[in-house]
Amino acid sequence: MAKTKFNKGKAYHGSDDVTEGKLKGETCLTDYFCFLCPKCEGKQILRVLEYEVRVHKEENEYNEFYEKKATEGFTLAFHLHCENCGFDDFTKISNIGLQQGDIREQQ
Ligand SMILES: [Zn+2]
Repeated sequence: MAKTKFNKGKAYHGSDDVTEGKLKGETCLTDYFCFLCPKCEGKQILRVLEYEVRVHKEENEYNEFYEKKATEGFTLAFHLHCENCGFDDFTKISNIGLQQGDIREQQ
């Protein structure tokens, strides 16, 4: 069976509900990281419905600025959903963007 395209092939971008620190997460009992619903009270874990390798590069253009070198460059996109309230959104994790320093000084 052919893999379904991420977000059914439609354009996507995280909404204002996930920007500027509103989407948070933490590890659960193990080393797995969980995203937490920004709409629900408490710590409702979001399901990750799908993911996409949005960018993959053999080289990491930020390596020249750092002592430790990344083996490659990537951006992963995640489609998040809350079973409790129906919240549905997107986020990305990347090693070819902001990568160091105090986030409060970068905004
Ligand atoms: Zn929720």
